[in-house]
Amino acid sequence: MSDIEKLRNEMEKITADMLKLLKIRTGIAKEIGNLKNEHGLTVTDESREDELKNKMMKICDEVGFDKSLATRFLNFLLNESVKVQSSELQTHLTIFIKAKDLERQGKKIIHLEVGEPDFKPPETVRNSLSEIYDAGFGKYGPVKGIPEFRDAIATFANDNFDCKINSENVMVIPGARFGVFLAFSTLLNYGDEVIIIEPAWPAYRQCAINAGVKVRSIKTTLENKWEPSLEQINSSVNNNTKMIILNYPNNPTGKIISKELMDSIFEIAKKNDLYILSDEIYSNYSNEKWKSVLSYDYEKAIITQSFSKSHSMTGYRIGYAISSNRIIERMAKLQALCLTNVSEPIQSVAMKSINDDVSNNTKIMRERLNVLCELAQKMGLEFEIPDGAMYIFARMKSNINTSELAEKLLEHGLAIAPGNGFGDYRHFFRISACVEKEKLIEGMDILKATTDDM
Ligand code: PMP
Repeated sequence: MSDIEKLRNEMEKITADMLKLLKIRTGIAKEIGNLKNEHGLTVTDESREDELKNKMMKICDEVGFDKSLATRFLNFLLNESVKVQSSELQTHLTIFIKAKDLERQGKKIIHLEVGEPDFKPPETVRNSLSEIYDAGFGKYGPVKGIPEFRDAIATFANDNFDCKINSENVMVIPGARFGVFLAFSTLLNYGDEVIIIEPAWPAYRQCAINAGVKVRSIKTTLENKWEPSLEQINSSVNNNTKMIILNYPNNPTGKIISKELMDSIFEIAKKNDLYILSDEIYSNYSNEKWKSVLSYDYEKAIITQSFSKSHSMTGYRIGYAISSNRIIERMAKLQALCLTNVSEPIQSVAMKSINDDVSNNTKIMRERLNVLCELAQKMGLEFEIPDGAMYIFARMKSNINTSELAEKLLEHGLAIAPGNGFGDYRHFFRISACVEKEKLIEGMDILKATTDDM
């Protein structure tokens, strides 16, 4: 046997042993997942992960192995454990699907779990929809979007987001969700780490897991007004950290952080050469404190925006990403691979509607949030008054597990979003103000009657 063949055989044996061990490890992860579920514990336990990492780094020292490679391998293993343990998680979407099933069976449900404004899109949308066919839109187009639309977005951004960009910085995308997916999938590599400030929209974590990226979550609390501390952020950054996610106004808390805190986060990002992905989809539903990340003119910032919430066009699937030309080019390559271009007729409709006055949506949402806050206060719920977005994120004084509560409420005709979907918040729940006042009141009555009984 030649030397190379001998070594190959040895490699083969080691690879087979690793696979067998991975199978055993995955089985144990699943068992732990079942136990966590039984005890109402969350999937990710950062302190346990850190403990494991420290032990493995010690082994690297002992055996003289590259720590960066070991961390990547460890992040892969941790991600796989999170994947096998995440399947049972109750989120606003699982409740939504159950609620829809019940509706099909004839039950009446009040939907306070979804973040979908019930307003009609602007009239311009209706009119331009019928013009599109005659105008001949509807062929393959450029991957980054119709040039006139990209121009219009750049002008809109310059007018509204305190920045100076041009159409080269803009890419049209089929909704902010796809922009988040593109950013994770093109800018990050296997084993990289991303910082997510929780509570957070679940898709950030899911996109990270999908891309093999390790999530380092920062847990903010109601007691600290949902503000991350600089110490938390600084201590989450290590050599593998590549990105930090911001989402203000926040889903689910409605929080907008102060300019001073945002300035400090940018300092940390610049010092550590991190990407900042800022999901600004709720900017239209914000109080005066809000400031776009674009105003920092940071080369490694990416913002995602959408017509879903501002124009109440969730089903049209249309939004945009803004970043440096270099990042847009990278994201455009994956977009070209996935979908050639965003539907031209829909781009054309959105282009006509971009400057429509949608301030009435903002006004109505704020009024409803006021009603919701008043009702929640009367019920004795604990929460922060939102600075924006469309939700309140609240806790019962009695610390009820809200996954169980959500199931029970469905029986009484009310759908809410349990806190677990947004991170380690099983005593919290999100209520959205996306229905008319009367329905909000009816929904909150059901909540009160059901929890009084518990
Ligand atoms: N970002 C956040 C924070 C959201 O809450 C949502 C929808 N709930 C989205 C993005 C998705 O937006 P789009 O419909 O544009 O994909």
